[in-house]
Amino acid sequence: MPRIPKFTLDALIGRLRDISRDFRSEPLHWLNPGDCGGSYCRACCARAASSEDMIDGGWGGIECDLQEFCETCGVALECSFTNYGVIEEVHSAAELDAIDPTTAWTLVRIIDCGYPRLTESCGDFRYMPELLPELKKIWKSLNSHTEPTESHP
Ligand SMILES: [Zn+2]
Repeated sequence: MPRIPKFTLDALIGRLRDISRDFRSEPLHWLNPGDCGGSYCRACCARAASSEDMIDGGWGGIECDLQEFCETCGVALECSFTNYGVIEEVHSAAELDAIDPTTAWTLVRIIDCGYPRLTESCGDFRYMPELLPELKKIWKSLNSHTEPTESHP
């Protein structure tokens, strides 16, 4: 069995970025006054809009409880996560045998992209050290189910 490289959040983020490098996502949009809270990419939102609807959203930082996908085309939508969302996404990723690009992309956003942040260097804003054992589990899974990546310079 190959040795698992030492876990650090930076190493984990690097691997997750590699896996999700070509992942396609779109800003999250919805209709105002609203059709029961459906979330869309911009193009599908425009197609779903009636003459009374206004297209809303399109900026980052919209808080979601779970990763959202376009109701129509299924593309991943860019949102940030509530505390509940962070915990749920990390829990479910830690249960997976392998990390797919969608999950990797979601985890990068959770761990490293602004809101929320799990890294200690970001201060205590949503710093969740209790999730570190699960992040280590994800690291182990990444290193036992994939081929060795390119050598380091
Ligand atoms: Zn769409």
